[in-house]
Amino acid sequence: MNETFIINQLGEDREKYFNAVAPPVLQTSNFAYRTVDEFAEAVANEKDIPIYTRGNNPTVNMLAEKIAALEGAEDCLMVGSGAAAITNAVMSQVNAGDHIVSVREPYTWAAHLMTGILPRFRVETTFVDGTRIENIENAINERTRLIYLESPNSWTFEMQDLAAVSELAKKKQITTVVDNSYCTALCQRPIDLGIDLVIYSATKYYNGHSDVVVGAICGSKEKIASIFRNEFMTFGNILAPQSAWLMLRSLRTLPIRLKRSSETTRRVLEFLRNSQKIEGIWYPFDEQNTQIELARRQMKMPMGLFTIALKTRDVAAIKRFCETLEYFLIAVSWGGYESLIMPKCAFVSADDPRVSMIRCYIGLEEPDVLIADLERALVTLPN
Ligand SMILES: *Cc1c(COP(=O)(O)O)cnc(C)c1O
Repeated sequence: MNETFIINQLGEDREKYFNAVAPPVLQTSNFAYRTVDEFAEAVANEKDIPIYTRGNNPTVNMLAEKIAALEGAEDCLMVGSGAAAITNAVMSQVNAGDHIVSVREPYTWAAHLMTGILPRFRVETTFVDGTRIENIENAINERTRLIYLESPNSWTFEMQDLAAVSELAKKKQITTVVDNSYCTALCQRPIDLGIDLVIYSATKYYNGHSDVVVGAICGSKEKIASIFRNEFMTFGNILAPQSAWLMLRSLRTLPIRLKRSSETTRRVLEFLRNSQKIEGIWYPFDEQNTQIELARRQMKMPMGLFTIALKTRDVAAIKRFCETLEYFLIAVSWGGYESLIMPKCAFVSADDPRVSMIRCYIGLEEPDVLIADLERALVTLPN
């Protein structure tokens, strides 16, 4: 199946809804049956037949079918946020007494799950530098059930060799999960590399319009069915039909949005590299990145999120730089149509060595407009 077929055709049964080009939003909590037998069959197959929207809704299912196909996964569950994707996926794989090996500094709330919540259920986590497979291998013990990956991470972009980690994990019968939010399936397909569960904040690139919070979990039929019966139905972090419909709308333009963001990022980085006011750039495809070979092997294209460090450590100057930018909004998140900056100085004290780091996301604006915006703001910085 090619991407265009998946995005434009797959799962769209237009004859069922008056040949409407855009699918309907089935804004209903409940589904009624004419006979008891039909009702009983639905109850017995709640994953596949709609009886109640916490479990199953056709608008949400259409989206899940497309995401699974894009990922090359057997199945997919859509959930109400990326955080819900993390909690459903991780909690489905561990029991009291188990051990997790995780990349260090994963997404904030993944870290909190593993340091603040799972220890209450006697699940312990060892955090390692995942850029070297030996570190993961050495952290594994006889109780390790899960390896938690995020490649690349979304501040400093360390990567893991996904094929190598999944090979190691399979030998030891350990489940692997990767947060693939940075890439989407159009850039990196972890299932093809042997990873068991792929999770998303689809709030970012997949939805791409900064108007829906949404998550996805992709994996084998067996694993997804188990998550459905247990965590998914119990935790109830569902994606509402209206939000699923918005994301279906967003998917239509996913390839074109990613290409645009990627190409503009290349131009913006060319400009930033020549600036005397900047002392560091973190980006998977940066020539200076020690992991660039892995990026080229594992990722199909450069994406639109990177981090810079300004030369100045003067917080007032850093704030002035950020506030001078007109088109880059000061905000968390990324993946939408609008360019963003997230200054580290909002999170750390003035003497922190990372204080001058600023994460940048390149949206869909005209490249020249963004470059001119940066140029104006860089001028405000001390030499
Ligand atoms: C934003 C983000 C999440 C959390 O997703 P939400 O949709 O905000 O719940 C998880 N992982 C990464 C890498 C993210 O950037």
